[in-house]
Amino acid sequence: MYVVSNMSKRLVLHNVNIQNGSIQYEYERSLSCVELYHSGPYTIEYNTPIEDVPLEIATIPFVANVLPAAWAHDVDVHVPCIDPTFKQSMSRIRGVLDSWYPSVGFSGGRALVENGPSNNPKEARDQHNSEKVASLFSAGVDSVTTYLRHSEKQPHLMHIHFWSERENRSQKNWAKYHEELRTFAESEDVPLSIINAKPTEHFDNTNLTAYHKNRLNGTWWQMVQHIISLTGTLAPLLYHKNIGNLYIPSSHTEKYHKDNHWGSHPAIDNKIGWRGTSCIHDGFEMTRQQKWQQISEYYKEIDFKLTIRSCEPNPCGRCFDCARNMAAMIISDVDLESQDYDFSAEQLDHIKDNIESGQWAMDDNNLFFWEDIQNHTPAEFDSHDLTSKQVEFHQWLKTIDLHELNRSTITEEDSQRKLYEKVFRFSPLLATFIKRSRIGERVKN
Ligand SMILES: [Zn+2]
Repeated sequence: MYVVSNMSKRLVLHNVNIQNGSIQYEYERSLSCVELYHSGPYTIEYNTPIEDVPLEIATIPFVANVLPAAWAHDVDVHVPCIDPTFKQSMSRIRGVLDSWYPSVGFSGGRALVENGPSNNPKEARDQHNSEKVASLFSAGVDSVTTYLRHSEKQPHLMHIHFWSERENRSQKNWAKYHEELRTFAESEDVPLSIINAKPTEHFDNTNLTAYHKNRLNGTWWQMVQHIISLTGTLAPLLYHKNIGNLYIPSSHTEKYHKDNHWGSHPAIDNKIGWRGTSCIHDGFEMTRQQKWQQISEYYKEIDFKLTIRSCEPNPCGRCFDCARNMAAMIISDVDLESQDYDFSAEQLDHIKDNIESGQWAMDDNNLFFWEDIQNHTPAEFDSHDLTSKQVEFHQWLKTIDLHELNRSTITEEDSQRKLYEKVFRFSPLLATFIKRSRIGERVKN
């Protein structure tokens, strides 16, 4: 067994326990990197027996979660073995991240140390089975669109439930949400898997964001990690099901990437793969409003109309992301009655007040999406189904200066996060203590 020394930054994977449809990783961190990774063990529940998965595939979720932070912080990651295709794909991704974020630097340190021989796969599966496809599925506008674009291939929908034993959530709401997902999959006659995993219980997203936010212009999860973690989480299940291609629904377009970066992009996503599976970034050429249009047309022809989510398990109707969906739906001809949102005058006033007062952060990411809605808002409404309040809301939205709001918005949460980041740079240990307190609830992401 490899023993962790506290003199250097090391993360050592000691055990990978695969049983009862779940994988549990037991690992050890050196003291010098406790602010980067949470204490283990880390568990993923696949809710499907996956005992046939070889160790070199089963280690992928662990490596995917920890490796980017290891590159940026000079941590040696010790794992018993890793799939060679995945290892190669990660080294190509490392080059992209390094060129995008040179001030973070992803080229330092040894990326990965294998301290044992690869085991022989229980079943050789070098064959790429492109007949079987899967798609990441969150029930958001991007993932529903990607499903529709490939529905003739009957993609296996892969829903990752950000589940954590440490969080006390209403099980009833989650059960209702998952039941809706199952009903949608059944009505479309496609398979669905719900996987319980929470990668941010593995690496410390709050601290990594505090370290790098100014260099990334966003959170670690958004800018670096999310697609690497989400695809990596699915590797054992996709291997088990012999699925050749995994679609990754795009969140942005090329236009956004001219001035900004985002952790999901063809240059990253299309490089991810492991023995038997390739990942494909999908829908990059479509704006969000074009996606809504595609959904509205499809929804006219089907019986069960899944509510498009922004927050989970149910749309709260009060947050900025829900507001974005509501504003987009009103102008995209979606049957508003079929969606579990409140389009009343009071709700629309709530959105307007929050945008005008700068209560919601109109950062570059939000600006991009709200501009898209603004650009697609017609000068004249001829819609029969809209209330006068809904028309009035869009007439107001069309006239506001989003760029001005982008410059002036600083929320209370932003201020608290900035304070946390200052404390973190002064003392990571003190910051970690604050994060565990009630104040810390505001800075977690
Ligand atoms: Zn919401």
